[in-house]
Amino acid sequence: MREFLEEPLSRHGYWRVGGPLERLVLVESTAELRALGRVDHVLGNGSNLLVPDEGLRGTTVRLAGELRGLDLEEHADGAVTATVGAGLLNAVLLARLDRLGVGGLGCLAGVPGTVGGAVAMNAGTALGEVSERLLAVTGLDGTRLGRAELAMEYRHGGLPEGFIVVGAAFALSRNGVREEQARVALHLARRKATQPLDLPSCGSVFRNPAGDHAGRLIEAAGLKGWSSGAASISERHANFIVNRGGATAGDVMRCIRTAWEQVLATSGVRLIPEVHVLGRWDPQLWPLPGVGNAGTLG
Ligand SMILES: Cc1cc2nc3c(=O)[nH]c(=O)nc-3n(C[C@H](O)[C@H](O)[C@H](O)COP(=O)(O)OP(=O)(O)OC[C@H]3O[C@@H](n4cnc5c(N)ncnc54)[C@H](O)[C@@H]3O)c2cc1C
Repeated sequence: MREFLEEPLSRHGYWRVGGPLERLVLVESTAELRALGRVDHVLGNGSNLLVPDEGLRGTTVRLAGELRGLDLEEHADGAVTATVGAGLLNAVLLARLDRLGVGGLGCLAGVPGTVGGAVAMNAGTALGEVSERLLAVTGLDGTRLGRAELAMEYRHGGLPEGFIVVGAAFALSRNGVREEQARVALHLARRKATQPLDLPSCGSVFRNPAGDHAGRLIEAAGLKGWSSGAASISERHANFIVNRGGATAGDVMRCIRTAWEQVLATSGVRLIPEVHVLGRWDPQLWPLPGVGNAGTLG
């Protein structure tokens, strides 16, 4: 176990913004995690998190060591159950599965988070979402919740309040791996062509409303390129907010608030953030009126 005091989120989060985490603890096992007692926040890979410049109080944990493991169980007809530690990076998981000739989680290609973060967000892409392969999650006290017990929906993991995922089981397969790899390659090329992946961001900021795209609505509100300090609504993809260098969390939040207000004013749509916002903010900026905050552990 390693402990860091007043560790800036800007060193860990993908936006490169955010103030100090009062206490960040890197835990290597479930036993270490349990021994901590109270845990206020979980940091996955910080690829979908926003914390104020003033920082975040309490204990934040990050999962390492044996909480990044992978076990495979083989079944008939090429079916495989993968049991994965929640701290494992999606990219590492996919590379290892690839080497082992196992497929099924192509929907996580290009999603730069951990397995725990993927489950908590029900991460996904045009190739599907993680809920389609999820069998069960294991919590801190050993509780195992089956997929049907989670209220999963589009970009929402539906975990019970305060639930820390330490592991997840997925239904994978040795069949159709080549075909999946081809779909993934096409998908990654398309992302590279359409998303501003050269600048720090947290990917899509808002969920797409049914039958529409948040990026289209933000663009229609005339906000492509709108900036606050060094944070901008991307010219390339309006659902991305990028840090052009030296942005603050406040700058990013002002972009979020402006996009949300202007889309409501111009299209009447109340966008729901995909990004998880933690900590205390100027109430003029956050929370958004009438929109719950999905990011709290409770
Ligand atoms: C360039 C870029 C592209 C992206 N593209 C996509 C995409 O195509 N599709 C997509 O879905 N997302 C995308 N994202 C967003 C992000 O990568 C995903 O939401 C990812 O699943 C977040 O995982 P994380 O480990 O980084 O979680 P974090 O950002 O660290 O945390 C997100 C939330 O999950 C919670 N959490 C993390 N781990 C656990 C755990 N073990 N137990 C309980 N709660 C936990 C956190 O407390 C927090 O509330 C993109 C981000 C970037 C930067």
